[in-house]
Amino acid sequence: MKVPFYGHTRQYENIKSEIDANIERVLTSGSYVMGPMLKQFETELAEYTGAKYAIGVGNGTDALWLTLMAMGVGEGDEVITHANTFFATAEAIWVVGATAVLVDCDTNTRCIEPAAIRKAVTKRTKAILPVHLYGQCAPMDEIRKIADEFGLFVIEDNAQAFDAAGAKFKIGQLSDAVCTSFIIQKNLGCFGDGGAIWTNHQYINDTVRKLRNHGSGARDHHSFGFNSRLDDLQAGVLSAKLKHIHAWNDQRIALAARYDKALAGLKTIRLPYRRPNYRHVYHLYEIEVVDPSERNALLKYLNDAGIDAKTHYSIAIHEQEGFPWGKDARLVGPLTNAEQNAHSCISLPMFPELTHEEQDEVIRVLRAWKA
Ligand SMILES: *Cc1c(COP(=O)(O)O)cnc(C)c1O
Repeated sequence: MKVPFYGHTRQYENIKSEIDANIERVLTSGSYVMGPMLKQFETELAEYTGAKYAIGVGNGTDALWLTLMAMGVGEGDEVITHANTFFATAEAIWVVGATAVLVDCDTNTRCIEPAAIRKAVTKRTKAILPVHLYGQCAPMDEIRKIADEFGLFVIEDNAQAFDAAGAKFKIGQLSDAVCTSFIIQKNLGCFGDGGAIWTNHQYINDTVRKLRNHGSGARDHHSFGFNSRLDDLQAGVLSAKLKHIHAWNDQRIALAARYDKALAGLKTIRLPYRRPNYRHVYHLYEIEVVDPSERNALLKYLNDAGIDAKTHYSIAIHEQEGFPWGKDARLVGPLTNAEQNAHSCISLPMFPELTHEEQDEVIRVLRAWKA
């Protein structure tokens, strides 16, 4: 039996009529860019997230750097994030000309470590950019405390954790802005590229809206800007999917509990850690091989057995070849946990439409390794 890593087409089949209806509405409306469907989705997104403003943009990376730019973060400024996130988090910092300050992650959650942030703050620090890695929120309450103490912006990179929550906070409650990606493989994904920002700050909303559309606020009036818009077809797909995202994440959570139970007690791997009472939405079910030197062998063993397992992310940002390519970066070490995470991680198949039969096959194969 082959077990896939994604269920994109299954998800489409399940709600085909809803998606097709929205796509048809856009196609027959004749408004494909900055049209009514984008407006509708932005309103729905603001309602869903509880934010005052939601803005659709071209992709998740743009969402991050447009936000940094709107905050006035640029050359000479430092932005703190962690070394074991997806590459785009650091990219966004470099795009605006700021210095990426890479710190370590927590031993258990693999999200950014608050004590490491505190150690990295300098006079030049402007913002903290925590990532809700794998679908679990970073400890926003502790991060907010540090930000308040030093007067820093907080931007949440929520590309992997749409509809997640902390024990005592919601996403967006303790930050200045939240950025997300809607590329298909994310929990809430469209059929191509897409991204969004939500915030309660009017100036961030106003500035990003202009920046994403050639600096234009009114016809023929332009200031400095770019082109990074979420098109109406993708907004229509997202509007249909938004109604299902909470239930889909519940399915991921139930599947994660099945993995947890069936894989508990294996000495060769570490299971993902969930902070008590956090809503971890398992964008990825990331295990770690206790002996990192065996990671690639286990990955190959799984793949050879027909299990489409992957790695997220096997090379930490500062370990990329040629890092930092003339960009301004500062490592505040040690980065032991981030490196260990990179060298030992394996993502198992995890998507709402994964069947129990398929999951049982993953479990059977994994349990048979070195048994
Ligand atoms: C996917 C992702 C991004 C970038 O999103 P794109 O839409 O691909 O630009 C940024 N940060 C994290 C953590 C991501 O997982």
